[in-house]
Amino acid sequence: MIRFESVSKVYDDGTTAVDSLDLEVPTGTLLALVGPSGCGKTTSLRMINRLIDPTRGTITLDDLNVLSTDRVSLRRKIGYVIQHAGLFPHRTVVDNVAALPRLLGGDRKSTRTRALELLEVVGLDERFANRYPWQLSGGQQQRVGVARALATDPPFLLMDEPFSAVDPIVRTQLQDEFLRLQAEIGKTIVMVTHDIDEALKLGDHVAVLRTGGVLAQYGTPLELLTAPVDTFVSEFVGGARGYRALGFERLAADAPINPHAAVRIGDSLAGRGWTVVVDERGRPLGWIDGAAASEASLAHLHQTSRFVARSASARELLDGALAGPGGSVGLVDDDGTFIGVLRAADVLAAAEKVAA
Ligand code: ADP
Ligand code: MG
Repeated sequence: MIRFESVSKVYDDGTTAVDSLDLEVPTGTLLALVGPSGCGKTTSLRMINRLIDPTRGTITLDDLNVLSTDRVSLRRKIGYVIQHAGLFPHRTVVDNVAALPRLLGGDRKSTRTRALELLEVVGLDERFANRYPWQLSGGQQQRVGVARALATDPPFLLMDEPFSAVDPIVRTQLQDEFLRLQAEIGKTIVMVTHDIDEALKLGDHVAVLRTGGVLAQYGTPLELLTAPVDTFVSEFVGGARGYRALGFERLAADAPINPHAAVRIGDSLAGRGWTVVVDERGRPLGWIDGAAASEASLAHLHQTSRFVARSASARELLDGALAGPGGSVGLVDDDGTFIGVLRAADVLAAAEKVAA
């Protein structure tokens, strides 16, 4: 648990960067700190590991008051990832990752072995281990940065715009990988970003700050999307709020699944329109158009349709229905068996019911 109690930071020139901030990050969750440039995100983050000391207020990690903890033992507990990774340019990738454990007294062999394991954890091939940072792409450097932050296996992780410096496609990929990694390691994380989509995607909770370092709203992504407290938050969260909120709704029992008779390869399609083809274990192979083929074959399957788990978010269901033939999405249960279809209109109706 990380807790801020009435934390303020006034810089020497009189700038109030953070104003009486109260925050709580439950153990094993990720808090995304988001807001416009200059609203005090970095200052808030750096007060946690004492790169900056607060002017007033208290920050605690579990039961530890950070102001009465020496910086060295604090940083052993707190991994830190920054934009552009901040790697040591004259050290190899593996030595970058092993640097802090070595400094803390680990021997060369075991710290190196552990560093190689961590590189694998963040998805970097072994052949990068002995290269220098400048020989890596931005996305690869960012992965090394994450591995380095995890090197002492700290319970807490601070991340300042960790994915901002890479192009959108790589960014999405790094975010997805990071979500999978966090599901395994369950660190207590504060991540700073100016990107509201990133905050909503990665945060268990999101804190929106406004200029002057004042907390505008703290809540889950769904709370921010469905119940912004004022126009600053609603404008920051953005115009496509309704559609984004669908990404967090699970419709489960509220969506009426329409039974749909499926066929196997070789079956006749006489008298059928769009039909789902399944394999011998009942798993969907694709849709086929009964008006265009007389029997089911792999060659005639619709190419772009997807099948979605019944537990998927409303947005995935809606995307599936809009992309699927005939405006329907095919659903599968947990073991991948085809269970029926859902029309786009039914997804929207169920989403409205859940939101009401
Ligand atoms: P963010 O990370 O949200 O962009 P920062 O925490 O970096 O914001 O900065 C918050 C405010 O504090 C800004 O107005 C910034 O100009 C000011 N600031 C940051 N560092 C200093 C400093 N060392 N001295 C004076 N003002 C600073
Ligand atoms: Mg910043």
